[in-house]
Amino acid sequence: MPLLTTDAIVLHAFDYSETSRILRLATRAAGVVSVLARGARRSTKRFGSALDLFAEGRVEILVREHRDLHMLCAFDLAQPRPELATDLGRFSGASALAELVLRFATDEPQPSLFDALSRSLDALCAAAPNDSREVTLAGAWRLVGELGFAPSLDACSACHTELAVGDALPFSHVAGGVLCANCARLHPVGRTLPAHERARLGAWMADERAGTLSDLDSRAHQRLLREFLHEHLAQDRALSAFEMWEHAPWSGS
Ligand SMILES: [Zn+2]
Repeated sequence: MPLLTTDAIVLHAFDYSETSRILRLATRAAGVVSVLARGARRSTKRFGSALDLFAEGRVEILVREHRDLHMLCAFDLAQPRPELATDLGRFSGASALAELVLRFATDEPQPSLFDALSRSLDALCAAAPNDSREVTLAGAWRLVGELGFAPSLDACSACHTELAVGDALPFSHVAGGVLCANCARLHPVGRTLPAHERARLGAWMADERAGTLSDLDSRAHQRLLREFLHEHLAQDRALSAFEMWEHAPWSGS
């Protein structure tokens, strides 16, 4: 059986038998994979705290060809991220990001998706409680971009005409971004995106921070993101971690 050595992040973990655990890992070299961590419940000697949610490290996986469950041989912990477990805003944000990767990534290698997730989790670790919602929004949009669904923000998503920077523009989930006035008559339009919020979305896509959001604006951004995800990725399937993050009463300022 081939041995795969790569970087990995723990996205989901659950007990399997009296002694073992099953993990879902985002990996740099093989997309999302499921592994059996034999003995992980019986003793912490072999894996230590490496198997906690959102921990990142170098793994060795024995790949069982044509099987969905592989064997975890070693997890060399590099980034434990305990900060994500100590604040509900950070934890629910990280869970929403993990859910996007779990649900929509494949077992194809997507190193840039892995890196975007890793950077976003690091940013959440460092985020003040009042910033965790914006950091999660930024991270989620970057993941959407890495999954191939980046919204069009500078040009009409239907006819590709360049659009003025300072204008509030209609945003169409179906078309995949903003629309010019002509195309807005032909497509269902969900919302109007004010110029500064369009700029903010553009900054997030470019991996830049864009300043603190008001509670009202961050709620509007959560709705926009949810609608976009359901149009392009989730369709009718529920995103339970995302919903928990969106509706949590404690998040934000
Ligand atoms: Zn147009």
